[in-house]
Amino acid sequence: MVTEQQVRESLEEVLVPSAMRSLVKLNLVREIVISDQKVDITLVSAALNSSAQDWLKSKVGDTIKQLPGVSQANVNFVQAASKEVNDVDYVVAVMSGKGGVGKSLVAALLGIALARQGKEVGILDADVTGPSIPKMFGLSGVRPGSSETGILPVLSKLGISIMSINLLLEHEDDAVIWRGPIISKVIQQFWEDVLWGKLDYLIVDLPPGTADAPLTVMQTLPVSGVVIVLSPQELATMVVKKAIRMAKQMNVPILGVVENMSYFTLPDSGKRLELFGKSKGKEMAEIAGAPLLAQIPIDPQLAQLCDEGKIERYSSETFDSLSQNFIQALPIKTKQS
Ligand code: ADP
Repeated sequence: MVTEQQVRESLEEVLVPSAMRSLVKLNLVREIVISDQKVDITLVSAALNSSAQDWLKSKVGDTIKQLPGVSQANVNFVQAASKEVNDVDYVVAVMSGKGGVGKSLVAALLGIALARQGKEVGILDADVTGPSIPKMFGLSGVRPGSSETGILPVLSKLGISIMSINLLLEHEDDAVIWRGPIISKVIQQFWEDVLWGKLDYLIVDLPPGTADAPLTVMQTLPVSGVVIVLSPQELATMVVKKAIRMAKQMNVPILGVVENMSYFTLPDSGKRLELFGKSKGKEMAEIAGAPLLAQIPIDPQLAQLCDEGKIERYSSETFDSLSQNFIQALPIKTKQS
């Protein structure tokens, strides 16, 4: 007789259309019942539309009937919201005191670091008024699959699940001029209505600053830790201190601090120029009581890869040490409830 394990392994091979992740990874397998030569499979519909459900019914039926000892396979769907299916181990939020310091870039690099380690990773672009994640990953213009009950993330080349308001706008350069409460609602919907499935890590690229939206994320999402991004040109360290204070007040551990645009290395002499002023990374890390994860230089190659949507190809010594330090700083604890 066929075993449940064999059936589950077969379902791991069935990719959900649009999402391009398996039924098992999306956590859509509710029940498997085996009696003699008959297998009954119950799947969860979540964000899948009716044509995706029909396709999966026949695909799963055919796949299971190929298993030895199976003569009949019945597949049916039950309704359940994405949030009932989503199973995210850790949420890591990336914040900055103000915009333009490279927060989204760092969020992208942290996601890439984890994906290269074989982790199941998602990036929720909560920087609703300045969303730049899809462009960096070359996903501009890609339309996410959706139904009345939810939205499917878009998968990057490395297999990172991505959701951003930019993927839902008619024109990518449409301005989002919503006020705080609406932005907060959108972020909450990205958490609840997007079918993330099973993820080891969800990286949240927060809106800059310490206003409504980042606050909502900290209050409504089970954030395991934050990474704070700053650049030396921030005139006053005050804004960074505010961000640090906010994380502390919300009782969210600070995993580390990343200083971006720390310096520029002259190609001929190898001399380091601190173009935006003296580094403040160490000082801020001390104030945060967290490690300085990296000091990222201004790197024309990095800017080019961002512009070309090829950020996943980036490699450098700085990236390697950022990855290592970040992975070491990650919380190891029992799962989020
Ligand atoms: P923020 O999220 O803080 O507003 P972004 O991460 O969107 O800022 O960065 C804006 C752009 O600046 C990136 O798309 C990239 O082109 C450029 N950039 C950021 N950091 C660097 C860097 N260290 N070297 C080169 N270009 C960078």
